[in-house]
Amino acid sequence: MSKKTDKKRLNVLEVVRIDAVIPSSIGKPFDYHTHGLDAFDHPEFQVYAPKYCASIVASVLWSHVDAVVNDGERFTPETVTDSQGTIFGYLEVPGHSDGDPSRLLIVDRPDMCVCQYCQGKGGNCNE
Ligand SMILES: [Zn+2]
Ligand SMILES: [Zn+2]
Repeated sequence: MSKKTDKKRLNVLEVVRIDAVIPSSIGKPFDYHTHGLDAFDHPEFQVYAPKYCASIVASVLWSHVDAVVNDGERFTPETVTDSQGTIFGYLEVPGHSDGDPSRLLIVDRPDMCVCQYCQGKGGNCNE
């Protein structure tokens, strides 16, 4: 039998909340961000995306939150992660109002992908 620890994993839905801020004008993306990571001494995450991407955004945010609260992972502007062919980078952005701690904006980093497609040589990413 493998020696898997029985440590109970936190339910991310109970420890962190995701807010979606409606854009101020048509064509602008929604602002999705977390609240609650300060209790884990980690910056909040933020993503800009259209409403129709909400479910993808939620899964990206929850997997990041899970990594922080259950696996002790730390993300910084130097971090690059690879998830099923999507490469994420992190930009430090200011909080919403003066004095708010800065957040980590999750961004696409196709420039970091070594596939033919992302290098502009055709084909598909993930091939
Ligand atoms: Zn909020
Ligand atoms: Zn690629």
